[in-house]
Amino acid sequence: MEVRTRIAPSPTGHPHIGTLYMALFNLIFARHHGGKFILRIEDTDQTRSRREYETSIFESLKWLGIEWDEGPDVGGPYESYRQSERTELYQKACFDLLRAGKAYKCFTTPEELIEMRLVSQKTGGKGGYDRRHRNLSPEEIAEFEKSGKPFVIRLKVPLAGEVVFQDAIKGRISTPCSDVDDQVLLKSDLFPTYHLANVVDDHEMRISHVIRGDEWISSTPKHILLYEAFGWTPPIFAHMPLLLGIDGKKLSKRKNPTSAYFYRDSGYLPEALRNFLTLMGYSMAGDKEIYNLDEVIQSFDIKRVGVSGAVFDVKKLDWMNQQYLINSVKVEDLWGRIRDWGFNDAFMAKLMPLVHTRIKTFGDFIDLCDFFFINHLKYTEALFTPKGLKPEESAQILQALIWNLDELEQWNKTNLEIAAKRLSEVFGVHFKHVIIPILFATFMGKHQGPPLFDSFEILGEHKARARLLKSIEFLGGLSNKKIEKLQETWRAQSCNSLISSNITSPAS
Ligand code: GLU
Repeated sequence: MEVRTRIAPSPTGHPHIGTLYMALFNLIFARHHGGKFILRIEDTDQTRSRREYETSIFESLKWLGIEWDEGPDVGGPYESYRQSERTELYQKACFDLLRAGKAYKCFTTPEELIEMRLVSQKTGGKGGYDRRHRNLSPEEIAEFEKSGKPFVIRLKVPLAGEVVFQDAIKGRISTPCSDVDDQVLLKSDLFPTYHLANVVDDHEMRISHVIRGDEWISSTPKHILLYEAFGWTPPIFAHMPLLLGIDGKKLSKRKNPTSAYFYRDSGYLPEALRNFLTLMGYSMAGDKEIYNLDEVIQSFDIKRVGVSGAVFDVKKLDWMNQQYLINSVKVEDLWGRIRDWGFNDAFMAKLMPLVHTRIKTFGDFIDLCDFFFINHLKYTEALFTPKGLKPEESAQILQALIWNLDELEQWNKTNLEIAAKRLSEVFGVHFKHVIIPILFATFMGKHQGPPLFDSFEILGEHKARARLLKSIEFLGGLSNKKIEKLQETWRAQSCNSLISSNITSPAS
């Protein structure tokens, strides 16, 4: 059997560090076995998928030194490698199941589903779909169809028995069928769900091993049942440990810098990050820590992958990066690497209009622009508490800014300005004397510098987001409860002033 692995990211945002992690292990496994590594773009979520994010995925993988054998950009024998260009295939597969009596049309409305969930919550049930249309008679189906009611297609999951699979990392995993719901395969717009498209593609593209993150393990029983319904042999599954923050919790965008580009923009060497990622949940024989990709490919053994979460310890990454700087970058090459990273002509051309009229000597340039290059700004409480604002209020403003920028989708200067004005209205605080100083503090670690909005755009989304998170943490953080409350109020936008409302009272 030819070994064929794949990653199947969804282009709904800039690549997560976990995407690089998965890509690396899929590549290592395929190369170790002389097989192929495939990149497939799962862009069935029409509202959230963007071509620019797809390009961003390609670029981040290339930056890390990962190349794929088949993919949307390089082609291959199983084109297209973009799911949005394969919808007919999924529809055909799904209607085949329908005809074979292994799937059914379900006409339940979204309102009915909500009601079902509420009733089930009250009675302590599981809250899923109650299978009310699983056994409709042909007459009933015809009646629904005549009325033009939209439908989805669901899989007829066996009502009893177990779904069993042998995970290459975690061993035997079995799930009672009664825990698996009649999953939707085709949505009412005839677009496939993740489950259907993923299974059809892994089969069609002859994927032999599905190596993916632990967060997908609950989908695997559904996938196995789908393979069974189609009469196909499932691939071998291997679920890699989750990446955890140093607090032991899942590395999440809400608390940690998770964008792959954050590490590039902060000046880490791709070869060091690559080495570091191969240590996540994996250990080389003899517990060797510094090794190159070829070494790990040659000696790779899936049995050495751990079952529990892998801690992404940035201090360790820093140490490793330094080891690479000392041992792999010659002193005569060092300036070239630093220049390529942040002191290149293209970047300097962006800074010059900002500094042109603001420096008295060239020496002032560094004073003015230090924050573009520094990784750890020196925050003080005074910077974040203009006009007597409390640190926690400042943290709330910064948290709301993240949500607002995410809603606006583009982290650019125009949107920062829109968001900043909105914050001042919603929180009822002065734009110039409160919001602006807090933003200067967050992004520059000072109250004066080059123009704020332009600087934000040049700093870039990845570093800007990390600085927002860092500032919130510096200000004491926000508990989950406070975040929920803030989110509710922010979403409802019902009050003119969040700070003058009692959202920050100790009871909340
Ligand atoms: N589209 C899924 C993702 O975004 C793929 C998960 C899988 O590997 O099956 O990661």
